[in-house]
Amino acid sequence: MVATSKMFCPKCGKETEEEGLCKACFEERYVVFEVPQVVEVRVCAKCPSYKIGDLWVDTNIFTYEELAKKATSRTVRLALSVSKEVSNPQVTVVPEFVGPQVLKVRVAVAGEIAGRQVSTEADVEARVRKETCDVCSRIAGGYYEGIIQVRAQDRFPTKEEVNRCLKIVESTFSRAAKAGDRLAFITDVFPLPEGADVYIGSSTCARQASRAIVDEFGGTVTEAPKLVGAKEGKDLYRITFAVRLPAIVAGDIVRMRKQVVLVEKLGKRVQGVDLATGQPTSAMEDVKLEKISDRSQAVRTVLVSGDASSVQILDPETYQAITIRRPAFLKREPGEEVWAVKTPEGVFLLPGGSRGKE
Ligand SMILES: [Zn+2]
Ligand SMILES: [Zn+2]
Repeated sequence: MVATSKMFCPKCGKETEEEGLCKACFEERYVVFEVPQVVEVRVCAKCPSYKIGDLWVDTNIFTYEELAKKATSRTVRLALSVSKEVSNPQVTVVPEFVGPQVLKVRVAVAGEIAGRQVSTEADVEARVRKETCDVCSRIAGGYYEGIIQVRAQDRFPTKEEVNRCLKIVESTFSRAAKAGDRLAFITDVFPLPEGADVYIGSSTCARQASRAIVDEFGGTVTEAPKLVGAKEGKDLYRITFAVRLPAIVAGDIVRMRKQVVLVEKLGKRVQGVDLATGQPTSAMEDVKLEKISDRSQAVRTVLVSGDASSVQILDPETYQAITIRRPAFLKREPGEEVWAVKTPEGVFLLPGGSRGKE
């Protein structure tokens, strides 16, 4: 051994700091990574999704530039193969627009081979193509798997009810879309005198939305599947979800068991106020309800006098003083106005200021 231990690269003969191949010859000998010079990037022209392999992927990105950059990075990373000899590879991919549909992508891979640090870089050209994704083309083609028919039992639903049902459908869908169900879209909504028909991409989602409506309003859902064909060997069904809102709505005055009840809420339980006592009352949803009046029939009258257990009011039709049991909700003093409703079961006061609403 020579004391002045100069080292030379066995390949190119240049002086080196370490034993064996110099850095340049070492990196030349190994292929650190491979990547195509040109990649094609596909983004949807209508929604923030891009295609990776055969799959369309949703994003929350709403500018074309950001979407194209994201899609480019993903596409390049997928196209990139790092040599198995590289341990702990760190890949950086930096796309930059050089034209409206063309990006230059700087790819760098750093890691270790046989205990030595290596880092290599390459440039990739990405060409962006705008296409129509699977979901957007289904929407454009009017695709649907489910129909929600919103109706009411023995009556037409009110505008408010229909609007509320559509809100419930929308929020069910935005939740499902956020959770990654790409068929969670509404194809069309048809308002009808007897309710509304909602055409829906995903039947799973349509089922969830129908149940959410019934959870809030009460009523029933029935499913009617119809075979419409086959796709990839699987039967393809379209399902109609017939939602029937209950005949009774909040604000109706009903006979429930032996009580006269102002209905306040329907759902798993019927909740309301027993108008005779003024106390809250409730029953299971399958209780028999018979409508005898509703809040819109209430009229103003005068509280004549009252004590702890009874009050005198003027009969709203005959203006004769009548005595009724004092309901627990009554806070008004003699001489003040109250709202009363005349039913086959007698006259009752309503809670609240006007027609039962404060
Ligand atoms: Zn060398
Ligand atoms: Zn799309």
